[in-house]
Amino acid sequence: MNTLIDTYGRTHDYLRISLIERCNLRCTYCMPEEGIPLRDRAEFMTEEELIYIAKKFVEFGVKKIRLTGGEPLIKKNFASILDHLSQLPVSLHMTTNGVLLDKYFNDLEKAGLNHLNISLDTLQEDRFGTITRRKNFARVYENIQEAIARGFKVKVNAVLIKDFNDDEILNFIELTKNNNLGIRFIEFMPFQGNKWDTTKKVSEEEVILKAANHFGHKNIIKSPFENNATARVFQVANYEGDFGIISTVTNPFCDTCNRLRLTADGKMKNCLFSNKETDLLTTLRNGGDITSLILENVKAKKKGLGGLSDLSKSLSENRPMTTIGG
Ligand code: SF4
Repeated sequence: MNTLIDTYGRTHDYLRISLIERCNLRCTYCMPEEGIPLRDRAEFMTEEELIYIAKKFVEFGVKKIRLTGGEPLIKKNFASILDHLSQLPVSLHMTTNGVLLDKYFNDLEKAGLNHLNISLDTLQEDRFGTITRRKNFARVYENIQEAIARGFKVKVNAVLIKDFNDDEILNFIELTKNNNLGIRFIEFMPFQGNKWDTTKKVSEEEVILKAANHFGHKNIIKSPFENNATARVFQVANYEGDFGIISTVTNPFCDTCNRLRLTADGKMKNCLFSNKETDLLTTLRNGGDITSLILENVKAKKKGLGGLSDLSKSLSENRPMTTIGG
């Protein structure tokens, strides 16, 4: 029985675990220009501690675990963590930048993790270099195609930034013509060090208008909004895949939120935007009981957006995105 129910009656059965803060890319909307300070390994959960805490959440009723980062695949003992988590009664998902996917397809298949969200914000190699500050476009693109060919359920996450990549919206949607792929356009969100400002957002309306003007209004089919969903999903008539918009800033979906987060340093966040974190790791290391802490954290969850009326506060009061894991 799930007991992770907050004061708004929302049941939390989805845990996002950040395995590591570091990443092999430097995406401008996620990683501060100056990077993040390197921290002592002892500040982070060991594999045993991570599995122990994950098991506690599963005992409370968590049914879905998503692995995130930084970049989860740069975690040295990723395969071992994955193997342990695959023995829990949960569906496993992962968000990755796709650079190292070719090294882990077999481990992922063996563990039954077949839901992959792969970040790719542009289909242009030069722009990839600009936004990630690295040169791995070809490898990421090939790994996306390989993942689809292997039968993984693939979604491509593209953060839209005005006057940077919003001219590629139609090209991304065109990828869904002959591919069983989900494109997820993510609204640019404010986090520490990512130079966010509200003028850089691309709204759901803008995306739909572009698609409708190009494909014809009647050819844009809206899918029903699923419970706990984050994306409003659409499909171009007769296209294999679909595209969705995740507009946390302009059109939040907090009413049916079922998500909790565990950071790589063992802190629990009941909301992406909440800066009120519960330190599970220190209590665990002091031999304390973390169950009451987990329940208290859920009870303290705000109605929406971490209780922030002005989201730009997240720029200063919240962590950098790379240390939350989305
Ligand atoms: S902003 Fe917070 S409450 Fe809203 S959907 Fe995201 S995590 Fe849930």
